[in-house]
Amino acid sequence: MEEKKVRVRYAPSPTGYLHIGGARSALFNYLFAKKYNGDFVFRIEDTDIERNIEGAEAEQLHDLIWLGIIPDESTEKPNPKYAPYRQSEKLDLYRKYAQELVDKGYAYECYCTKEELEEMKVQQLSSGVKSFKYDRRCLNLTEEEKEKYRKEGRVPSIRLKMPSNHVLKFHDLVRGDVSFNSDDIGDFVIMKSNGIPTYNFAVVVDDHIMEITHVLRGEEHLSNTPKQLQIYEYFGWEPPQFGHMTIIINPNGKKLSKRDLNIVQFVSQYRKLGYLPEAIFNFLCLLGYTDQDGKEIFDKEYIFKTFDPSRLSTSPSMFDNKKLLWINSQYIKAMDNQKYFDFIFPFIDEIESLKNIDLNRKQEIALMFKNELNYGEEIVSLLNDILIKKEELNDEEKAILEKETSPKVIALFKQKLDSLDEVNEEEVKNIFNEIKKETGLKGKDIYMPIRISLTGVMHGIEMYNIIDILGKEETLKRL
Ligand code: GLU
Repeated sequence: MEEKKVRVRYAPSPTGYLHIGGARSALFNYLFAKKYNGDFVFRIEDTDIERNIEGAEAEQLHDLIWLGIIPDESTEKPNPKYAPYRQSEKLDLYRKYAQELVDKGYAYECYCTKEELEEMKVQQLSSGVKSFKYDRRCLNLTEEEKEKYRKEGRVPSIRLKMPSNHVLKFHDLVRGDVSFNSDDIGDFVIMKSNGIPTYNFAVVVDDHIMEITHVLRGEEHLSNTPKQLQIYEYFGWEPPQFGHMTIIINPNGKKLSKRDLNIVQFVSQYRKLGYLPEAIFNFLCLLGYTDQDGKEIFDKEYIFKTFDPSRLSTSPSMFDNKKLLWINSQYIKAMDNQKYFDFIFPFIDEIESLKNIDLNRKQEIALMFKNELNYGEEIVSLLNDILIKKEELNDEEKAILEKETSPKVIALFKQKLDSLDEVNEEEVKNIFNEIKKETGLKGKDIYMPIRISLTGVMHGIEMYNIIDILGKEETLKRL
């Protein structure tokens, strides 16, 4: 038999911007496609019209491309063979297929109202059943009964008729053999009364028509898979192979939620903060996957070559922001200088007093921070820590200035600096050495009082660089 070309997809709803969880799903599908020389498809599930957000589709796609997760086919680059790439543009197709299932007796019209369904649910739940199942009261309606309902103004939805005691099993790429029994699944709606397909139905039609061979998606879809398999079975279509990736948890061990406000979760936010796409790509690879040699920093080429789906992890993946910061800092350090300038100048330009300084000077300042930064935007606060002296000292900082030796150190430094003709790194180093000798004091007792008198804070870039940025005159003034 001829091997089918591998085709995978990422199918977001345009109800929001690209979330880190979505980016991870997209990434692993992309890696899967790369591994098997397949196609990675970006298509849109936009049938929940009220929840759609203007611009979200384009942002999702462009954020993916920015990350380096580049679709072979998308809403913007459709393959006519598989188009359209938006569900809203193929409603007729879903209706046709739903009708086919009705005609074959695999699906039926349901005329129940919202209120009736709600009542059914309340009754079932109060009688002790764990989960609600449609009671099939519309399964065998006669033509007359249907006609009567229609006259009442009721518009039917279409439900799939689940077979009884039927085992729906599949081999999950991540978790191995999984099986469900159809008896645990009620007859679910495939077409709503407004003529819009539900997710479980539309996704099957889409995956079939687009010849999708593998589906890697989040664990939250695991319970949808038997429903989808039943639809494949009724149509006589071959289902794709499924893989359900584990949940992402926050550092407290709870499922990552969009309400975790202390974790930045949207790709566009990371871009604005000055994270590098290669670093996020790298970080996302680690979110649910372990490299064969335990490597944590690697580029695209490496992961393309080595990616092995059997190494997708079966336990929850922790979203470790500290690791992301560290990875990003490694990528910043490794940038060549010209690229680094292009990346960092827009952040420096946020500071009014530095915006128009000459290019060489701007480059000098930028380089002082290259090995210090975790992300681009950080340079703004680091520079402001220097340019704008913090006047309110905390207890620790006050204690340092109040040390008996501190005034002397500061006075000595001021006097020596003042007498320099040219302030350069070498000379400043010499001054510190002289102070050491003259006072008999060591490192911290000398550096800290000076640092605090200059900036009001105890941390920051190298002292000489601070002096360089401030200039001799301002340095003396602050001392
Ligand atoms: N739009 C669905 C989601 O983002 C797609 C699910 C699937 O991959 O089947 O969760």
